[in-house]
Amino acid sequence: MTNPSAQSSHLVLENFIGGKFVPCRSHIDSYDPSIGEVYCRVPDSGEEEVEAAVVAAKEAFPGWSARSPEQRAQVLNKLADLLEAHLEEFAQAESRDQGKTVTFARTVDIPRSVHNFRFFASSVLHHTTECSLMDHMGCLNYTIRCPVGVAGLISPWNLPLYLLTWKIAPAIATGNTVVAKPSEMTSVTAWMMCKLMQQAGVPPGVVNMVFGTGPRAGDALVGHPEVPLVSFTGSTATAQRITERSAPYCKKLSLELGGKNPAVIFADANLDQCIETTVRSSFTNQGEVCLCTSRIYVERSIYSEFLEKFVAAAKKWKTGAPSDPSSNNGALISNEHLEKVRSYVALAKSEGGIVHCGEGVDQLDLPKRNANGYFMPATVISGMSDSSRVMQEEIFGPVTCVSHFDTEDEAVSRGNGVRYGLSATVWSRDVGKVHRVARRLQAGLVWTNCWLVRDLNLPFGGMKNSGVGREGGKDSYHFFTEVKTIAITH
Ligand code: NAD
Repeated sequence: MTNPSAQSSHLVLENFIGGKFVPCRSHIDSYDPSIGEVYCRVPDSGEEEVEAAVVAAKEAFPGWSARSPEQRAQVLNKLADLLEAHLEEFAQAESRDQGKTVTFARTVDIPRSVHNFRFFASSVLHHTTECSLMDHMGCLNYTIRCPVGVAGLISPWNLPLYLLTWKIAPAIATGNTVVAKPSEMTSVTAWMMCKLMQQAGVPPGVVNMVFGTGPRAGDALVGHPEVPLVSFTGSTATAQRITERSAPYCKKLSLELGGKNPAVIFADANLDQCIETTVRSSFTNQGEVCLCTSRIYVERSIYSEFLEKFVAAAKKWKTGAPSDPSSNNGALISNEHLEKVRSYVALAKSEGGIVHCGEGVDQLDLPKRNANGYFMPATVISGMSDSSRVMQEEIFGPVTCVSHFDTEDEAVSRGNGVRYGLSATVWSRDVGKVHRVARRLQAGLVWTNCWLVRDLNLPFGGMKNSGVGREGGKDSYHFFTEVKTIAITH
């Protein structure tokens, strides 16, 4: 608990409903993960606040959906410009709220949020619908696509504004109005963005932001009968709950969930490039990216060389104060999450795994101010059985496991041997092998000889327990619109 005098200096957020900031009666503490102290109070919204936001979004829908895509695109572009003009302010805030480095927020989170608005402002202008002639019947069939209504958008804490705008941008570009609920742990940049809405010309009620926890605010949104579609990014467990909760209303759902992503590294890979990229793919953003590599399968003939070089490179991946430009990683999101991630390292040790670097091996050299922050060094483990929980469950922290394989078939089968199927990486100079393996891996995205290269035009999403549906240029357009087939005889 924080003392009352300190509380008065806390940043206090308000919901944004119908174009106005609306105070909430109760609040949740939000921590600065790099110092382990409460610095912000987030509305603890429930049914009442969600109801008000849905009413505002419904009222705004007829006017907003009647605008042309060009008119809506102008507003999105203006919002992007404003966000870009405040980039540094947003980057500092995202880092403080989430624990990530300022460098990462400045070069990835906020620029990508700006790009999300620009991308969908442009892409919404270029879709076409279908037409089919039945001349023998004197009939012309064609399709139209209409916005669905009030979209419920729920986002996680790892890439707060990045993932929230990935949903808001296509939802409003296509003419829907939205009620969004960011993660209760990282709500600040969403609240800051609301301040730009009016300036950007977003009409009141088109974007409503309701802050609060999943079980209260999130559940009220998902269970609201007037919210016909829900786009959710978060854990598989929450997605199961959301699916059940929305089933009575037959809602349209897009679910972007967790991963346990393999890297398959063949002996003919460009090892220097592979190691540099695989360190990045394992540890970026403290390993708190759904696309992070957490199982590395290396062809046996290069295994020892790979492991030695990989561990050496991981040791150089610096964990430190988020404001320090030399830090590669900052703090994990919460103490609870840090303890969860650490528990997987303890489990690995208890099962005979070797911890080569990181947790329990290397000491962190942190400034005094950060002594109570939730930091953990990049950790590399080997010697785990594929059936271990360490190899099966999403850890979502700076931990990766290395193992060896002998054949292409074995690599594919072990890569696929988890319940998740979000992304995978394949490393080889053999073009045929790369195509074969990429095709056989059960993952929504496969990167070969690279990682995190994204063309937003193309589908994003997971197989198996990693998701339902895809988002991205055409896929987001399809999700956020309802298609209708019209037949006209003449
Ligand atoms: P989470 O599922 O705990 O929470 C995500 C969001 O859902 C939060 O806003 C939370 O408040 C809300 N929520 C929780 N319970 C709810 C309920 N009953 N009803 C409605 N909403 C509810 O996930 P998290 O811990 O915030 O995020 C980490 C997870 O997100 C990881 O599993 C990660 O892999 C996943 N993720 C996936 C992607 C992707 O694109 N596939 C991207 C980023 C993160």
